[in-house]
Amino acid sequence: MTTHKITLIPGDGIGPEVSGAVVKIVETAGAATRVKFEWHTHNAGAEAFEKTGEYIPKALYESIEATRVALKGPVTTPVGGGFTSINVTLRQKFELFANFRPVKSLPGLKTKYPDIDLIIVRENMEDLYAGLEHVVVPGVVQALKIITEKGSTRIAQFAFDYARKHGRRKVHSIHKANIMKLSDGLFLRCCRAVAEGFPEILYAEHIVDNACMQLVMNPYQYDILLTENLYGDIISDLCSAFVGGLGLVPGANLGTECAIFEAVHGSAPDIAGKNLANPTALLQSAVLMLHHINEGPTAEKIQTALEQVYREGKTLTKDVGGTSGTKEFADAVIAAM
Ligand code: NAD
Repeated sequence: MTTHKITLIPGDGIGPEVSGAVVKIVETAGAATRVKFEWHTHNAGAEAFEKTGEYIPKALYESIEATRVALKGPVTTPVGGGFTSINVTLRQKFELFANFRPVKSLPGLKTKYPDIDLIIVRENMEDLYAGLEHVVVPGVVQALKIITEKGSTRIAQFAFDYARKHGRRKVHSIHKANIMKLSDGLFLRCCRAVAEGFPEILYAEHIVDNACMQLVMNPYQYDILLTENLYGDIISDLCSAFVGGLGLVPGANLGTECAIFEAVHGSAPDIAGKNLANPTALLQSAVLMLHHINEGPTAEKIQTALEQVYREGKTLTKDVGGTSGTKEFADAVIAAM
């Protein structure tokens, strides 16, 4: 029996509901495949601040340093003021430079776009997300967009390596280098240089606004979308709608030392505490995590059960047209194992 130590950040809003459901499913799949999990639970954000006086408690940093793997629920970030995003801070601290977001249709779930299989590879540490803003004079604010050769090359290399390893056919760089000639221009130059080393993979470039229209018109023309930080964030939510919405799409924040797995969605305050949240996105993030820690059979067991629940379509949450709650959905996944 293998035991894995995992840092668990339940988050806030719908975080505790979806992470509770996911832990229960992962535990059950682990018991059936002889894998144990030791969850090291630490919270972050406003709730952590009330308890410890820190938005990201020292114990949480130390836990991730020790376990090197975290499963994270969403954390609310105040709009237009307040503390810096917990997500952005963790990505910076642990140098989680790659945000990997697979957008794949689930069987049985009817959407306007069947059989979607896209991957968003988003640079995770630079761009306007560096959070460098200042007031120049009253009424004028400057925000700095940071793009580096190192960061751009590293994320492009990640995308192409992934494409080669997994037999993907095409990589599109998404940019706005017609306007941001220097910053997005540098990003593109790095992508092109990396692409040269992968002659078997088609390489193309689309300007971000056109890419949004092209995606909605015909998402099947894309395979891997390689983006800077901000465009990738926006395009992720857009692409989530192809497969049924934010309740479904998982993500991984990957670095060379650590990894944090979390859904694309946020804390959804509009449905928090009502047993309405769909835990699929965080569950599929946990599946990515299980593959990352080389527990393929446990991951497969969950994915197969999840797909069976969608195929049957009897116990789905409201966001995807069902009438069941978070807990009932989780129980159905467990029953399908
Ligand atoms: P959101 O993703 O929380 O919600 C957008 C919409 O999608 C809402 O209508 C919500 O009900 C729905 N939704 C999201 N997840 C769902 C789920 N699992 N099941 C069913 N419906 C779901 O985006 P928002 O409202 O713009 O942001 C809320 C807060 O979350 C903000 O403070 C934001 O900063 C934060 N946020 C955190 C993360 C993170 O922790 N990684 C990511 C994005 C946003």
